[in-house]
Amino acid sequence: MSISDKNENLLIKAEAGKDLTREDIIALLKLPFKYSAALYLAADRVRKQQMGDEIFLRGIIEFSNHCERNCLYCGLRKGNTNLSRYRMTEDEILATAAQIKKTGVPTVVLQSGEDSFFSQDIVCRLIERIRKETDLIITLSIGERSLNDYQAFQHAGANRYLLKHETASRELYKYLRPGCDWENRLQCLRHLKQLGFETGTGNMVGLPGQTQEILADDLLVMKLLNADMLGIGPFIAHPDTPLAGIDNDDIELTLRVLAVARLLTRNTNIPATTALATLHPQGRLLALQAGANVVMPDFTPEIYKSRYDIYPGRADVGSAVEIISRLEKDFQSIGRTLLYSPGHRPN
Ligand code: SF4
Repeated sequence: MSISDKNENLLIKAEAGKDLTREDIIALLKLPFKYSAALYLAADRVRKQQMGDEIFLRGIIEFSNHCERNCLYCGLRKGNTNLSRYRMTEDEILATAAQIKKTGVPTVVLQSGEDSFFSQDIVCRLIERIRKETDLIITLSIGERSLNDYQAFQHAGANRYLLKHETASRELYKYLRPGCDWENRLQCLRHLKQLGFETGTGNMVGLPGQTQEILADDLLVMKLLNADMLGIGPFIAHPDTPLAGIDNDDIELTLRVLAVARLLTRNTNIPATTALATLHPQGRLLALQAGANVVMPDFTPEIYKSRYDIYPGRADVGSAVEIISRLEKDFQSIGRTLLYSPGHRPN
């Protein structure tokens, strides 16, 4: 069989949903550039077949930029003394959740650094108030917590949890996240899954020292965990971190990982991330045509938004309502519509 027959057969196998080996995944990630369009089209067809043409919306509130960790790639790291820190009050968070509800977006994502100021009790009270006052579906993205915390959050009414594994390479993880333990992170993800949270994980693409083999392992972690949501974003170096100045303008590799994630996991919710829109003006639309089906507009009040500075130059200026209406026009241009429904992972 010629190499081109082999590549075409691999794409057919992946689109058909046959089991992919680690070698298959690596081969998909390494396909010559001329196969990129065919890979994205295959992922797009699987997205359409499994998830439909609608784009689900999740409204984000970045309620604290305090973080007790020191990840080398992140502007929120505690060692970044140039960052002006904030914590939103409970009433501010509730008012923002009410605004999300008013726009018709059915789910809220509460996101922060790892900030123990927000104790189990405080987070539970927030969840209960949001449920009672808005009935929004609640996703938490607040880092590693104890099993007891996760149980309490669920009991209080949280439905979903996002915790990116960041990288499947133990060595890279250890280097990038000093003092953090990869096994513990995976254990957190297993706990969340076992408790019945719709669980999201994900990675960064373009990290220094990352290989296609590591990216294939990232994809296998997503598959093995049976994660329901996958956040796949490009690494963007922040000037106030030890990784300042490391260039990553490779949107192609991120789109490729996203497309393979769709082919591998079939019916998961995959956002077109703001990080992709930051790296490339058409990044979000390109992701939505390579397997993505979710967009997460940021509702964080303007006074705080620019201070949630995980990476520089974040796209999406203006209020969330303005952003949604801009996005709506863009999405129509590719034959897609926004859907104001919870967008659970189908069974
Ligand atoms: S990646 Fe998360 S845990 Fe690490 S410094 Fe940033 S906010 Fe904190």
